[in-house]
Amino acid sequence: MQDRKFVRPRQKLVEFLRKKGIKDERVLQAIGKIPRHKLITTALYNRAYDDTALPIGLKQTISQPYTVAAQTEMLEIKRGDKILEIGTGSGYQCMVLCELGAEVYSVERHNELYHRAKEALKQEGYKALLKAGDGTLGWSTYAPYDGIVVTAGAPVVPDDLIKQLKVGGVLVIPVGDDKTQSMLKITRVSETEYSQDEYDDFKFVPLIGEKGWGE
Ligand code: SAM
Repeated sequence: MQDRKFVRPRQKLVEFLRKKGIKDERVLQAIGKIPRHKLITTALYNRAYDDTALPIGLKQTISQPYTVAAQTEMLEIKRGDKILEIGTGSGYQCMVLCELGAEVYSVERHNELYHRAKEALKQEGYKALLKAGDGTLGWSTYAPYDGIVVTAGAPVVPDDLIKQLKVGGVLVIPVGDDKTQSMLKITRVSETEYSQDEYDDFKFVPLIGEKGWGE
């Protein structure tokens, strides 16, 4: 009963994202399916399907749906692709990646968020592999990846993430200062060559770690 009242706001969000420029219908379908309200506190339920980032505690946020959709679209995921996410947070983006049929690996710096996201994914029946740790170093155990998505703003592109991409793989990462970042889409063209596209300004919480902003 409780969940039914979120169906309409979720559909409205999908329409809003389509008008805002998201073209990949698979991404829109995923956004239309994932219960974002379950990943935030009940006090924020009335804003669960607004196109805005919302607090999830520990000074962190669940990303804005447009940003999640845009980053996912840039990854150009095919079913079975191996995708690494840096910054699990609430688990929202992780669920979107799973819905697209990716094999998802995700790293979160905060232990508490890692445990919460792990439980939320289990509750919703998603099978991503999560770990708590510093994602600026990637996750070498399962490398190389078809795609890597970073969901916190970095001062520079961490070299370990570049190294953990397959040839043909894509890294999507916001890079900039503490106020705004540009979204970089870096494609590994060959063992030694990369191409780069850059998109408008985005606003993320900082990527904190050895190859990110200092602690
Ligand atoms: N993808 C998340 C979602 O859908 O809710 C976005 C969460 S938030 C915008 C970014 C997350 O990155 C935060 O949870 C933060 O703790 C995490 N983070 C920051 N630096 C990190 C690092 N070095 N390694 C792993 N996670 C990090």
